[in-house]
Amino acid sequence: MQYPAPISKLIDGFMKLPGIGPKTASRLAFYVLDMKEDDVLDFAKALVNAKRDLTYCSVCHHITDTDPCRICEDKQRDQTVLCVVQDSKDVMAMEKMREYHGLYHVLHGEISPMEGIGPEDIKIPELLKRLQDDTVTEIIVATNPTIEGEATAMYISRLVKPTGIKVTRIAHGLPVGGDLEYADEVTLSRAIEGRREL
Ligand SMILES: [Zn+2]
Repeated sequence: MQYPAPISKLIDGFMKLPGIGPKTASRLAFYVLDMKEDDVLDFAKALVNAKRDLTYCSVCHHITDTDPCRICEDKQRDQTVLCVVQDSKDVMAMEKMREYHGLYHVLHGEISPMEGIGPEDIKIPELLKRLQDDTVTEIIVATNPTIEGEATAMYISRLVKPTGIKVTRIAHGLPVGGDLEYADEVTLSRAIEGRREL
């Protein structure tokens, strides 16, 4: 049986989201039909506004509604330490921990030869440019403990170490193959404390 076009379109929309197959998509679509009209409007507005009002910080590339972002603008933070992460969700996980007071650099991905993603495809050139004014003295590489995350960390280390900047890697306590954003706060803060030099 064919669904009426508006429902099919809604189902297609949900199916574009990660981890949502046809079954879940149609369940969500029918759920939306049962929602109050005001709630549906609020939800739709939230989607549009998030896309329209958010941008990426021109300094650290974290998602933000101001440019530079509030973290980069905060002069109380330690300007000499940069924590390099794969995406904005990792910044949020680190901030939740409240123990890190340096700045960030969001790579937006990881080096993955298998998928044809090289250093130039993520924000590594931007990272190197940021290091040129000698403010930063330590980089903490907090990419995920996966093969690609490790390869990315090694690549950054090889480029940065000759400049004399200290490069450390969080490792301790993070599950291998795990995602930084899913680490709990205690594990994450131990991972930072137990960082080792690369
Ligand atoms: Zn920023």
